[in-house]
Amino acid sequence: MVYTGVLTKMQTEFLEPIQYYLVFDNDFIHVNQLLNKTIGIKRVGYQCLSCGLDRPIFRQGFCKSCFFDKPVAGDWIMRPELSTAHLGKEDRDLEYEKKVQLQPHIVYLANSSNVKVGVTRKTQVPTRWIDQGAHEAIEIVEVPNRYLAGITEVALKDHVADKTNWRKMLKNDIEDVDLIEWRSNLKVFIPEEVTDYFVENNSETHLAFPVEQYPIKPKSLNLEKMPNYAGILKGIKGQYLIFEDDTVFNIRSNEGIVVELNV
Ligand SMILES: [Zn+2]
Repeated sequence: MVYTGVLTKMQTEFLEPIQYYLVFDNDFIHVNQLLNKTIGIKRVGYQCLSCGLDRPIFRQGFCKSCFFDKPVAGDWIMRPELSTAHLGKEDRDLEYEKKVQLQPHIVYLANSSNVKVGVTRKTQVPTRWIDQGAHEAIEIVEVPNRYLAGITEVALKDHVADKTNWRKMLKNDIEDVDLIEWRSNLKVFIPEEVTDYFVENNSETHLAFPVEQYPIKPKSLNLEKMPNYAGILKGIKGQYLIFEDDTVFNIRSNEGIVVELNV
């Protein structure tokens, strides 16, 4: 079977293990069913996730001009503390920014290779944790807008990592830690205007990924350099496909690339 479509991050279902789907215009591929099968991936073009044109992808699935112009790629996406919709202040499109920023957000601790702090919209829990390949996670605060989440993350970054080591995550070089204890230790560093939003009663969420064989020395497939690859799928973790020969393919960082999948 050959499926053709533009890559966008895999849709997921929080089951045990997590279920993954690739959604193309005309096809819906249940990726878990491809485990132990050979998959060919071929780059055949580009399709910017905003304008839809066949232009090289710059970042986050967008062509260069969309990345710098469109409201969906404002700086406050990656740096929530720059959010200004709560002040009625526009970055690129106030209506859009109000819709996204003025809704409940979660600051969380997730453990994928090490414990890290992160921010997400409440509707994206636990999707965000799945996408990061975290095997355990917990909420720290639930706040009414993105700005408050952002300043909390900035304050906590001095005391806990904010990045994942993707190689460790994929090698499953992990340990279980007590995130409730981590959260209580970090509580004193939460900014004063956010302390009322601390999540008191909660338990850790545990996530199980469909992986049959972890890579020993993961090497990342770059479709720009190698436009044609084939391998046997051995697992899916985060937004990565893991192949038998230790090749790993990050679907998320290849968004906007049009591929032919040969299954
Ligand atoms: Zn574009």
